[in-house]
Amino acid sequence: MKRVFLVDVLQCERCGGRMKIIATIHPPDNTRKILQCLGLASRAPPVAPAAFDYNYHMDLF
Ligand SMILES: [Zn+2]
Repeated sequence: MKRVFLVDVLQCERCGGRMKIIATIHPPDNTRKILQCLGLASRAPPVAPAAFDYNYHMDLF
């Protein structure tokens, strides 16, 4: 994240201090169960179809 997006996920947004990774959750089933238990969305939102721009005209050469 830091290399690609220049976001330091281990820096606290409130105080700027360093945070530690205390656990990782790997099986997607476990991740879903935890998110559902917390009342959070456990699925990515559906991908909307691309909007067609009626005003777009493609110039070919
Ligand atoms: Zn902090």
